[in-house]
Amino acid sequence: LAMSSVSVPPPKCLQKTFVAPRRHMFGPGPSNVPPRILAAGAEPVIGHMHPEMLEIMSDIKSGIQYAFQTENNMTIAVSGTGHTAMECAIFNAVEPGEGVLTAVNGIWGERAAEMAERIGAKVNSIVTTAGGYFTSEEIDQALAKHKPVLFFLTHGESSTGVVHPLDGIGDICHKHNCLFLVDCVASMGGAPLYMDKQGIDILYSGSQKVLNAPPGTAPISFSERHFLMKVFNRKTKPVSFFLDMTWLANYWGCDGKPARIYHHTAPVSAFYALRESLAILAEQGLENSWQRHREVAEYLHEGVENMGLKLFVKDKNARLPTVTTIVAPPGYDWKEITSYIMKNHNLEISGGLGPSVGQVLRVGLMGGNSSKASVDMVLEALRDALRYCHKSKV
Ligand code: PMP
Repeated sequence: LAMSSVSVPPPKCLQKTFVAPRRHMFGPGPSNVPPRILAAGAEPVIGHMHPEMLEIMSDIKSGIQYAFQTENNMTIAVSGTGHTAMECAIFNAVEPGEGVLTAVNGIWGERAAEMAERIGAKVNSIVTTAGGYFTSEEIDQALAKHKPVLFFLTHGESSTGVVHPLDGIGDICHKHNCLFLVDCVASMGGAPLYMDKQGIDILYSGSQKVLNAPPGTAPISFSERHFLMKVFNRKTKPVSFFLDMTWLANYWGCDGKPARIYHHTAPVSAFYALRESLAILAEQGLENSWQRHREVAEYLHEGVENMGLKLFVKDKNARLPTVTTIVAPPGYDWKEITSYIMKNHNLEISGGLGPSVGQVLRVGLMGGNSSKASVDMVLEALRDALRYCHKSKV
């Protein structure tokens, strides 16, 4: 045998072809990607600055403006997941030493607080129980007390299954000269949301939930107020070059400058898929999508309760239509239930996250997965699991 210059041999495991299992993705995300979106993502790769690509980005921008119900010019998709968009929002809106207030009724407010802390912001949080939400009075009082430059709120709390009311909160923030940042990763397309009417200054989402695109791109939009207050008045540059909105705005053609300057190589195939997913949402119509998610969720709630299980969110109006939290059945080990269902029904539902760990099962029915047929599958799987999983071991 000829002597080789490499000491690490080619891995044996890579000789096998990988075939992804076919699964019902009924957890809190990612959701199933329909063939039409998969096919779009499989189109040949072109350059990230080619004219066709810039046109696709312009289409994506229009699609996000529709999904968010905003006319904001600064509307783009960041190359990354929901967390990337969260950091993009916080890094561009806050400078070290400034105050941030986060509303914590689940894990996302905790994560936002941690991100803001990492860039040296002074962070305060208002906290309520998992499954609960805040009144406008509570938010008003906290803003008056802490005087932050940014207030973070999660619209669709996927860890607890709560959809937070948004009406009026934008005005309260602006009265306190504070920017209103909202996470709609788990709710966009699945629950009513009007960025401009509701006075939201920064809004971001993700591709892998209601949009049914693969994970890895994240819609985000910034209001003019944000730009006047922050981007043009910063004393320091944002800590991240990659997420600096002045650069991203140029790459996305939002800054009015004639020349596009290379910033990073966009995930070309992921943008094809995102464009297709936004096209499907536009075809179906936002209001139809909201209504379907609500009806399907109510059908699921009814089925769950008829089985003798309890819903985690007591207030009916606060139940998130995309992700339903079910009180973990007493006497069972929730992990056994989710693994049983995965193994025997080829179907993903999940346990809790952050403050809801051990307390709930989570069922996500998003985009194309939001149908009564999916609900029937979930209920059948749950019924079966309750019959065959061990009782009273915990
Ligand atoms: N916010 C919410 C409400 C979410 O549900 C998620 C994803 N579970 C995220 C943020 C983070 O998104 P990603 O996992 O894509 O980073």
